[in-house]
Amino acid sequence: MQDQREQIKGARHHVYIPDGRFGLLLAATIITGVISTTAGVVFAVLVAMELLARIRRAAHLPCPRCGEPFGSKRRFPIGVGKNTCQNCGLGLEE
Ligand SMILES: [Zn+2]
Repeated sequence: MQDQREQIKGARHHVYIPDGRFGLLLAATIITGVISTTAGVVFAVLVAMELLARIRRAAHLPCPRCGEPFGSKRRFPIGVGKNTCQNCGLGLEE
């Protein structure tokens, strides 16, 4: 159970680190934004979509105790959730 909690914590920490596709899109936004505002806006939208997808993945990781999504049950969560399971109350730091 501790491993799974560490996994949830790791995934949450990872959400805002610009690596992989997220990093490439962020770099593309900055570079194309200097050349063309329109292209910059297009890439900025892609960055936002990628960020929301990451938040969603992290928020929907299953709780090790009850198996329900740990952070949020919402279809489009606005954050990764609290440090306790929203279904059974299991804490990440217990
Ligand atoms: Zn739970």
